[in-house]
Amino acid sequence: MTAVKIEAGSATDVGLVRSNNQDKLLVAEPLYAVADGMGGAAAGEVASALAVQTLGERLSPRVGSLSPDDLLKAAQAANRAVWDKAVEHAEMRGMGTTLVAATLVEGPKLAVVNVGDSRLYAMRQGNLQQVTIDHNLVAEMVAEGRISKEEGEVHPRRNIMTRALGVEPEVKVDIFIEDVNPGDRFLLCSDGLPRELSDERISAILRRLADPSDAAKELVHEAKHHGGNDNVTVIVLDVVQDLAPTEDPVTTIHDVAAAPLASPSSVSHPATAPSTGEPPASHERQRRPSPFTLRVAAFLLAFLVILGAGGLGVWFYARSAYFVGLNGESLTVYQGRPGGVLWFKPTLDHVSSVTTAQVLQASLPELRAGVEEPTAAAADAFISNLAKLYQLSRSAALPPATIPPSTTTTASVPPTTRSSSSSTSSAPTSS
Ligand code: MG
Repeated sequence: MTAVKIEAGSATDVGLVRSNNQDKLLVAEPLYAVADGMGGAAAGEVASALAVQTLGERLSPRVGSLSPDDLLKAAQAANRAVWDKAVEHAEMRGMGTTLVAATLVEGPKLAVVNVGDSRLYAMRQGNLQQVTIDHNLVAEMVAEGRISKEEGEVHPRRNIMTRALGVEPEVKVDIFIEDVNPGDRFLLCSDGLPRELSDERISAILRRLADPSDAAKELVHEAKHHGGNDNVTVIVLDVVQDLAPTEDPVTTIHDVAAAPLASPSSVSHPATAPSTGEPPASHERQRRPSPFTLRVAAFLLAFLVILGAGGLGVWFYARSAYFVGLNGESLTVYQGRPGGVLWFKPTLDHVSSVTTAQVLQASLPELRAGVEEPTAAAADAFISNLAKLYQLSRSAALPPATIPPSTTTTASVPPTTRSSSSSTSSAPTSS
């Protein structure tokens, strides 16, 4: 059995049409999830954040020993958390979210759970295949052969979802168990990606870019370039051989580098030479560098050049971004990457006037982790957007709210409509 691990890259973007990003993602090795919220005002964002947060809280402490059943139960718990929140808060009624989540389980295998129309694809030997089944009306019509895939892509009812997390007290969760082998690549995404890019285009990008972070960023960039009509979120997972249990690469490098430096005989001779009363003969030989010493010097020089170039690249990568994090209670903009890259730690750019009391509590986990933005201005825009969302949710909650009795449990699963063009539309409604 080959020990494997996962290397992940992720990216998310609000797109070009929506004013807020209702997609949320979770990257907590080896647990990964994408949730795409729906609901008026900030409710969609609350639903997706709550789903991802519940999943992380239940599973993160036990990663490494998870079973498919654990993942299934965590998805059910996330459903209940979103449902309970909507029952408690009248203004959030009808909110919901998709959820696709994956984690390594014993085997090793990849366990995948899905509700809604976010997706998991598998790429093996360069062939891309959708693993999950979309829970929407048009996808079901395509699956039943009533319309073609091409007709489905332009069908006027393609936004009608048949299953979502949080719109009923219980939900049916699909589960898939996938083989994992080194070289396999998996893609989790919200529907903002396949809406803009064909499977062929997605596949070409995944084949072209070997680094999972580069691939994730390029997919999001391309989706925006092709319309960006929806929020788009992507996690690329690469299955790689896990060498850690049998080999320590750091030790190996040290051994190779240290051996030529310590081995020249002259190092040990001075300690014994004085007993002869004469300069040791070996000193004469040392004046002319031996081919061996030249090789060592050339090796060291090449090593230093590569190290310098690599260091410069890492420095550029580490410093070429900003992120929003927490500095005590204040939302703060840092330059760099959350957690730093190697020895390049993020630095404080500026502290905003917005505090944790002025944003939705659901935003706090991602703020603690750090939300990356390409520029300091984009980071400021993100902060003011969070503050605005909080104000909106407060103003919606201010009038004395009459919580309608929860009577929908007797109805069959209502199809849920999701707006595809505007975030200002009302909460999803039955149709
Ligand atoms: Mg979407």
